[in-house]
Amino acid sequence: MNVGIVGGGIIGCATAWELSRNGVDVTVYDGRPVAGGATHASAGVLAPYLGAHDPGPLQPLIVRSCGLFDAFVRRVRDDAGVAIEYSRCGSIEVALDETEADSLSRFAAMHTAAGARWVDGDALRRLEPAIAGDPHGGVVIDEHGYVAAPELTAALAVAASVRGVSFIGERVASVNCESAQPAIRTVAGQSSRFDRIIIAAGSWSSQLAPGTTVRAVYPVKGQLLRLKWPAPKMERIVWTTRCYIVPRQGGHVLVGATMDDVGFDESVTEAATDQLLSAAHSVLQMPSGAGMVEARVGLRPATLDGLPIVGCSRTSDAVIFATGHFRNGIALAPLTASLVTDLVLGRALDPALDPLSPKRFGL
Ligand SMILES: Cc1cc2nc3c(=O)[nH]c(=O)nc-3n(C[C@H](O)[C@H](O)[C@H](O)COP(=O)(O)OP(=O)(O)OC[C@H]3O[C@@H](n4cnc5c(N)ncnc54)[C@H](O)[C@@H]3O)c2cc1C
Repeated sequence: MNVGIVGGGIIGCATAWELSRNGVDVTVYDGRPVAGGATHASAGVLAPYLGAHDPGPLQPLIVRSCGLFDAFVRRVRDDAGVAIEYSRCGSIEVALDETEADSLSRFAAMHTAAGARWVDGDALRRLEPAIAGDPHGGVVIDEHGYVAAPELTAALAVAASVRGVSFIGERVASVNCESAQPAIRTVAGQSSRFDRIIIAAGSWSSQLAPGTTVRAVYPVKGQLLRLKWPAPKMERIVWTTRCYIVPRQGGHVLVGATMDDVGFDESVTEAATDQLLSAAHSVLQMPSGAGMVEARVGLRPATLDGLPIVGCSRTSDAVIFATGHFRNGIALAPLTASLVTDLVLGRALDPALDPLSPKRFGL
């Protein structure tokens, strides 16, 4: 069995690695370096219950995928032989006013089974002294955490290479499934046939969908800052309605993130940087020496119903979509890789795939 994957972001690399662990011969195509798309900008937060108080169909998928993360990271580390920054540091979702306190305390009461607990403003400041102003309390969830997404993806690519996956540094011009074996044609004109082709091209996936002009996946631009953060170190992810902050090793924090519907524009803007810096200043007491190191930008692959697209194409069972993960592609990577591997190997279909079918968008 040989499989071609379009896209070397976290979804393409996680799937390539998982397939190679199952003995499949895999080739990954991407004109950018590994993790050069949205994955590069991601905060890597693994937190099904942050800012997501509506228990829609996405939440159980994120819970399930985050539950796979410990073993996933351990196996990637073992295969790749490299360190990956990964921590279950916990999170605090901060109530900035009475209305937020009211809804967050109710949320905590309803989610004790998920480890959520409400703390008042004083307890919250004791847990995370960097929080500024007069917070009205917050929800603490110890299970939440983060992973360094570009690092994890680079490690996935190394782990996949070790298992024989080939990486071709070329953009794919088209995916053709008119004959029994679908084909990938690169922009340089090289054509290769595969038993299965996986479209994991993030925000660009719709451009490759064979036989349709439907724009089922569209880009939502996000900008994020990395700040130098001298001691004392922040311990937990801090989430507010203005911005979120992820404490990182090596004296840094990430501050995210903007959301703009501006097409395929990947430029860093001063306005977004100012917006994030001002939000961070309003939420945190900055230690002396804190300051901006870099701004990152990425295009989140969004879909009209907010759910990813994972499953076989309407036109051919040999073409599989793994895309549309919007704000949760890092958290959903282990589950997506496993679901796609089941599809490729013809294993029993997981019911989790039902709401994710590409056919709901005519793909
Ligand atoms: C600011 C920001 C913060 C985020 N924070 C989080 C977070 O905390 N937690 C979380 O879970 N998610 C987060 N996300 C979302 C997450 O980053 C994405 O859902 C995830 O990276 C999507 O991965 P992907 O592999 O599908 O897409 P991408 O990483 O975009 O990869 C797609 C790849 O396909 C390639 N490609 C496109 N077209 C072609 C072609 N024709 N031929 C070959 N290759 C092609 C691109 O070059 C790219 O490398 C965040 C996103 C942003 C922007």
